[in-house]
Amino acid sequence: ERASADSAPLTPGALADGTAIPLLANLGKPADAIDAVARGAEGVGLFRTEFLFLSSSQAPTVGEQREAYRELLAAFPGKKVVVRMLDAGADKPLAFLNDAHEENPALGLRGLRALRASEDILREQLTALAEADAETEADLWVMAPMVATVEETVYFTGLAREYGLKTAGVMVEVPASALLADRVLAHADFASIGTNDLTQYTMAADRLLGSVAGFQDPWHPAVLRLVREVGAAGARLGKPVGICGEAAADPLLAVVLVGLGATSLSMAPSALADVRATLLAHSLSDAQRIAEAALAADDATSARAAAQNAAAHKE
Ligand code: PEP
Ligand code: MG
Repeated sequence: ERASADSAPLTPGALADGTAIPLLANLGKPADAIDAVARGAEGVGLFRTEFLFLSSSQAPTVGEQREAYRELLAAFPGKKVVVRMLDAGADKPLAFLNDAHEENPALGLRGLRALRASEDILREQLTALAEADAETEADLWVMAPMVATVEETVYFTGLAREYGLKTAGVMVEVPASALLADRVLAHADFASIGTNDLTQYTMAADRLLGSVAGFQDPWHPAVLRLVREVGAAGARLGKPVGICGEAAADPLLAVVLVGLGATSLSMAPSALADVRATLLAHSLSDAQRIAEAALAADDATSARAAAQNAAAHKE
């Protein structure tokens, strides 16, 4: 099946009943866009901007950033490109942003919290994005990482709009924002669920720590219930809910996530073919039934098995 998925035509993501589920790429640098386009990515669901900042001891200039964003956006004319604001701290420490020693950096001043504490860096990033946007034809969406509260959502979306950036959303990576997704989405244009951090924070298990790696499984029904909260809120409010964590690259889990209300999936480009092929084998009602089976399980292992069983026995 893998070989046939790799040689299948690069059709847009869709379920067996024709429901469109755009398949987007997670990218870490503009040069990766070529491979993503070749593999049929319909846009970018997560552009991690950290690469621009990791190599130096200072923030890049607005001009340097603008050139990188312009190269990225130019590869996707007419397509959606979701750029995430700098996500520094915890697993992605930056000397000039995360200088204070923290006992628990994953619970510390990271993501949007760190940007707010150095707001000039956030403003420069938004300036560079607005300039690149004006020079290119892509549909630019911007989002903030590690948003835990409605207040942070209002802060970020308000700031983005100040720079003329029309579509501003938040990553849902913290259980608090999943549980309050209806309130968060009242202020954001979209949500994108980062299942890597959402799993880490739901299971209270450091994603970098080998001794607790067994907890870092997005199939866990507790994680799936939080995804369902966000999906339901998005459906009620008519707002897109994407997935950009690694979970979207697991073909059967991708089906489950769609069954829980995800409207697009973003993944490493190498995963696009298998996910595309698996989505085509299931209708939306199949996906919902498979998701129900996974939700009813006690743990990640049995959720996966229940979903496999439900997928194999069509009604
Ligand atoms: C996530 O947390 O799922 C995510 C997509 O962001 P990152 O892996 O960069 O933290
Ligand atoms: Mg994350």
